[in-house]
Amino acid sequence: MQSESSQTSSNGVSAALVVRFAPSPNGYLHLGHAYSALKNYEFARRHGGRFLLRIEDIDIGRARPEFEQAIYEDLAWLGIEWESPVRRQSEHFAAYAIALEKLSELGLLYSCTCTRNDILDEVKLRGEWPRDPDGAPIYPGTCRDSSASALLRQITSDKPVAQRLNMTQSIGALQGPVGWTEYGEQADGRLVSAQPSIWGDIVVGRKDVPGSYHIAVVIDDAEQGVTDVIRGMDLFEATSLHRLLQELLNLPAPVYRHHRLITDEQGRKLSKSAGSPSLRDLRAQGVTAADIRARLELN
Ligand code: GLU
Repeated sequence: MQSESSQTSSNGVSAALVVRFAPSPNGYLHLGHAYSALKNYEFARRHGGRFLLRIEDIDIGRARPEFEQAIYEDLAWLGIEWESPVRRQSEHFAAYAIALEKLSELGLLYSCTCTRNDILDEVKLRGEWPRDPDGAPIYPGTCRDSSASALLRQITSDKPVAQRLNMTQSIGALQGPVGWTEYGEQADGRLVSAQPSIWGDIVVGRKDVPGSYHIAVVIDDAEQGVTDVIRGMDLFEATSLHRLLQELLNLPAPVYRHHRLITDEQGRKLSKSAGSPSLRDLRAQGVTAADIRARLELN
């Protein structure tokens, strides 16, 4: 497998740099998004690279056209320019389905009918139970271990069916240890060894669409030729999954540059649920794009 990182200079910058900002249109952008978008944009400009915008609307239940429209308006207001056409994940389910098919051919998937409540009930019965880095209980393996075959479950189930990755088998299918080059904000270029097992058997095919965030992100980054993934530290642990999937699907490994998270005065991560003001709220209060850059120490 040809890794993009083999074509990098000593500071880890790819010769033909391609970065992307990939927001989900589930709400209005806030300062944390502005930081990530501007980091990507400035990095591409500094190194003569390409900046792509990708709309991660795979969660069709939560994505809204008005939020997507607001993304375009807010980024333009920040002074960011992006290439056309913009890739929208909802237009690429066929590509994600092919990736699932490959994983299935490798014998690494099983179908699962569990609901979130089924999982919570099962885990309660087992007492102390490990959680994944996002705080959700590790999938207890109910459908993996059930005597009904996956195929039978899929055919006979009247409940929606998800596809899960058998983590133990997936790690066993690797040629060797997997990791990534992490440049972070200190540009240190350290090697991080991937720990995908801390996530357990993740959902790779959702009940509503053929794909999931993790599948879509690795397929899109590969299809768009992304050389450097610049995103928040909140996705640092998920990189273990992305590297695992890239290896299983024979996709190139980008360089990763996870950046600090912007917090509010109380030190909390910004989010809609925490009442963080959106960029459009700030704009309505008279804040300028230059003020945003200064506040984010991007000048
Ligand atoms: N869509 C993700 C988000 O809005 C970002 C995914 C990524 O950068 O890999 O948090």
